[in-house]
Amino acid sequence: EEEIFKNVISHAKEYGFVFQSSEIYDGLSAVYDYGQLGAELKNNIKTYWWKAMVQMHENIVGIDSAIFMHPKVWKASGHVDGFSDPMIDNKDSNKRYRADQLLEDKIEQYYNDAIRIGIDERKIQFPDEPELVPTLIDLNHIRNKIKEGDPIDLSKFSDLVQYEYNSITKSDDYNKAISLQIEMDNALKAEDLPRLKALIEEHKIQCPISKTSNWTDVRQFNLMFSTQFGAMAEGAEEVYLRPETAQGIFVNFLNVQKSGRMKIPFGIAQIGKAFRNEVIARQFIMRMREFEQMEMQFFVRPGTEMEWYNKWKETRLKWHLALGTNPAKYKYHDHAKLAHYANAAVDIEYEFPFGFKEVEGIHSRTDFDLSQHQEHSRKKMQYFDPEVDPQTGKPYGNYIPYVIETSIGLDRFFLVTLINSFEEEDLSTEEKQDSRSVLKLHPALAPYKAAVLPLTKKDGLPEKAREIMDMLKLDFNMAYDEKDAIGKRYRRQDAIGTPYCITIDYDSLADNTVTIRHRDSMAQERVAIADLPKIIGDLVSW
Ligand code: ATP
Repeated sequence: EEEIFKNVISHAKEYGFVFQSSEIYDGLSAVYDYGQLGAELKNNIKTYWWKAMVQMHENIVGIDSAIFMHPKVWKASGHVDGFSDPMIDNKDSNKRYRADQLLEDKIEQYYNDAIRIGIDERKIQFPDEPELVPTLIDLNHIRNKIKEGDPIDLSKFSDLVQYEYNSITKSDDYNKAISLQIEMDNALKAEDLPRLKALIEEHKIQCPISKTSNWTDVRQFNLMFSTQFGAMAEGAEEVYLRPETAQGIFVNFLNVQKSGRMKIPFGIAQIGKAFRNEVIARQFIMRMREFEQMEMQFFVRPGTEMEWYNKWKETRLKWHLALGTNPAKYKYHDHAKLAHYANAAVDIEYEFPFGFKEVEGIHSRTDFDLSQHQEHSRKKMQYFDPEVDPQTGKPYGNYIPYVIETSIGLDRFFLVTLINSFEEEDLSTEEKQDSRSVLKLHPALAPYKAAVLPLTKKDGLPEKAREIMDMLKLDFNMAYDEKDAIGKRYRRQDAIGTPYCITIDYDSLADNTVTIRHRDSMAQERVAIADLPKIIGDLVSW
């Protein structure tokens, strides 16, 4: 699996999809550039999202708000005070880590150990608080061993487990370990996660940090980038690069509602850059410091939010699957623990080679954001609802709408499409060994819709091919290639996901037909040049 991921990353670089930023200067960590084909694929994903969300819904409109916003916006939204990660420094190596990431690494290690020694995998899944899992399993395991009177074979466990074991049994008081376990079990059953965490901390049960290194305490580190606004050195104002696009929608809620005469329920969508100074960024374009979001805020009448939340939860998963992604690779992850502003939240997760990870979040954000902006800006954020409430016989009147948010990371979805479409096919026959790399992208997402390939570079074939290019290039993004043997050219188009290759040969000059080769089946058929616009149009239309 790791291998697949590595291959996807090198494929993305080799064919011009994704490059590391400032590569000639050894790169800038967690910042990436999209190359000539990556830019096309990214644009096609944006178009697909925009069409599905804005064009297909008469009650959703799209905006494009600025990256810079008034500093008070981030005070109101809670980002100034609350948008931070726990951070820890290793004083020996002078490296900085995200405390929970460090934990995650240990979990991974433990998880593998646990499976290796035969612990039932199902017991390892507590999706809402994965960081707690190893502790619980360790303790369970140890408790059972103690009960059964078995010796504990520490050689089979990681140093983490050994450490935990020591910390529990150091006092030689096994009963204490058992009662602690029961207490933790109860906390877990009652979903009292803060209590569980407190126990873990109190008993130093799960210390992800090696005992020998010299670590600082965990500190909170704000993830927003800031910069000085205006040219004045003194009194210059500190502004932030937005860490999410949503606030640009909230502050424009009334502008859009009034100028667009929008009636609740309605949505405002936007695609744009967001910036987060992630303490630890890794896994290629999964977690970047500069990334792009596609967000939609849907404003509803209070009391109807769960109905809309469920609708959007369903609608958004359909959007993911409509591109032919394997449904078995997707799952919902309902949050048991909610942010202070939310009354329901779910992640749409995709199974990456490194496990299930969030690609999109759907959140019921109540009236938190609009109320906060009303309070901080002292401007009314209310909507007048003229519809009559059947229960009272009177209009619903003025209220601050509730909000359902759908928020997808464009770069993460880009990675999903690459991983999902990348295949290395073995085409070996008895006579010879052969293989090809192919991106089986949905035709609507493919950077090029078709490639025009004259069989040879002479005898008028390139001229004929150019005529075909001219006929098609206004409507479709087309590739043209006359270099190398035809087989090699096919393979190159396979590797970049071009659904059709159009080959011009000597017969084409005589009868105005060409060969079309299909990327996935590699089947070829003869078609009239005049039919090409329709054939390609049908294939790539949404
Ligand atoms: P995570 O838990 O992975 O950090 P999050 O819960 O902070 O994500 P949200 O704030 O809900 O993410 O942002 C919505 C979407 O934006 C995510 O589902 C993800 O696809 C994307 N996203 C968030 N942070 C990043 C990042 N650093 N790089 C790339 N995409 C990101």
